[in-house]
Amino acid sequence: MIDLHTHSFCSDGQHSPEELVRLAKAQGITHLALTDHDTTAGLQAAQAAANEAGIRFLCGIEISTNVKNQHLLGYGIDIQSAAMLAACEGFTARRNRRTKRILDVLAEHDVDLCESEVRAFARGQLGRPHFAAALIAKGYVQSVKEAFAKYLDDPKIHATLVENPTAEAAIALVHAAGGKAVWAHPYQTGLKGDALTERLDAMRTAGLDGVEVYYRTHDADEQDFLRRYAEKYGMLMTGGSDYHGETVKPDVTLGVPMRDEMLAMF
Ligand code: AMP
Ligand code: ZN
Ligand code: FE
Ligand code: FE
Repeated sequence: MIDLHTHSFCSDGQHSPEELVRLAKAQGITHLALTDHDTTAGLQAAQAAANEAGIRFLCGIEISTNVKNQHLLGYGIDIQSAAMLAACEGFTARRNRRTKRILDVLAEHDVDLCESEVRAFARGQLGRPHFAAALIAKGYVQSVKEAFAKYLDDPKIHATLVENPTAEAAIALVHAAGGKAVWAHPYQTGLKGDALTERLDAMRTAGLDGVEVYYRTHDADEQDFLRRYAEKYGMLMTGGSDYHGETVKPDVTLGVPMRDEMLAMF
């Protein structure tokens, strides 16, 4: 088993980086990447734990771009990279500004929630799943899914995306940190057909190195399309679970079946 897309509590995952590595070991995972949202904070601890456990490890990150659900994975990044550290500081500041916006939107829905009640569920980079946890705890919703459907997918919240880097800037950032740039779960943008090909072409022109071909929500045709595209241009083909832990995403387990092409970055 392998997993190149995972989250720890350094962003919106449930487990510490060390716990994540322990769980991966127990699942028989031999190759792992930690890809927290917009932060590299967990990488050193995860790398050390992976070395200890005899798991091959890649330092990763998942960068949110200025387009809804368009996420850019970076792999093999230098955790000392000044460019990456500075960018992550900016990402945190941006997420902190967005927090105020989200609380305003919730208040408009007559939800009584303050920042400290949300931060009580967070250990690092703040994300919407922490708001979901707080909404569940206060009885406004029963599940993370309901929290998103009812409150957290609001267009006023998505309007803050304009502060995020473009895909091109995110690719350049990953390269500046010595890493490879991979487009995560491309179909989550809602693009398909020619529009998807055009976006892939544009990102490839900007230096995109690979595509996340193997992803839970991709059906056989979608996986096939992405694999053919990557093969055509000699790009990396990655895959992962997008594991966050059972309390955050109850239906997602750690690890995906290994394929030889996923080992290209190790
Ligand atoms: P954020 O980085 O704050 O925009 O939050 C992104 C996280 O929220 C990711 O882990 C997504 O998988 C999760 N997410 C986004 N939309 C939904 C949804 N409709 N239901 C459950 N989780 C979601
Ligand atoms: Zn997440
Ligand atoms: Fe993502
Ligand atoms: Fe993710």
